[in-house]
Amino acid sequence: MPTPEPVVLVVEDEAPIRRFIVSALAAQGLSPIEAATATAATMAATSRRPDAILLDLGLPDGDGLELLRQLRAWYDRPIIILSARGREDDKVAGLDAGADDYLAKPFGVPELLARLRAALRRTSREQIPEPTLCCGDLVLDLVERTCRRGGQDIRLTPLEFNLLAELMRHAGRLVTHRQLIAAGWGSTAGAEAGGLRLVVHQIRRKVEEEPSLPRRLHTEVGVGYRLTEATA
Ligand code: CA
Repeated sequence: MPTPEPVVLVVEDEAPIRRFIVSALAAQGLSPIEAATATAATMAATSRRPDAILLDLGLPDGDGLELLRQLRAWYDRPIIILSARGREDDKVAGLDAGADDYLAKPFGVPELLARLRAALRRTSREQIPEPTLCCGDLVLDLVERTCRRGGQDIRLTPLEFNLLAELMRHAGRLVTHRQLIAAGWGSTAGAEAGGLRLVVHQIRRKVEEEPSLPRRLHTEVGVGYRLTEATA
């Protein structure tokens, strides 16, 4: 069977530009799908799992950079920003938020296609991870950024969410202080182990039946933490 054509999600609220890009992609044998809002983009990305996303930053229902950060929590294929904001700091913010590349409007179709082909070549066609993480009855939704334990909603701060997500990505395995500080604070500089201890304490109060006798989030003294299914 021939390999299916790469599916490319075009997120752009201006219909003439969107149609123009879609027909250019289709003419190259790619399979474009469209979204005109951030909400529609999230739905299309989760349901269709495109091979790449072209993302306009100025969307009517949300900031494209925020959408980019949410996508990057689970989506590891190329994301190329298409934006009228050509300023240098917008480019840096987009790349920092996880974009693979950046094209300032107006751009030519040959350049867009060249960047897209390069980005697609860099990624393999392996399975995209599920946008949820599970460990026993604990479930994190990386798109909605919600947490449930045994079907009950648990409210987490963004920092608690990021640390718990890192632990759940490595469920059953030891996660070092350094890894957790990087996941929570973005870099190893400036964050103290004491801050980490405090957030772990807060997470235990929310996810453990008895926070003083943790059965899920275990301390590995001097090294880090390990998340498991609830132990007896
Ligand atoms: Ca726009």
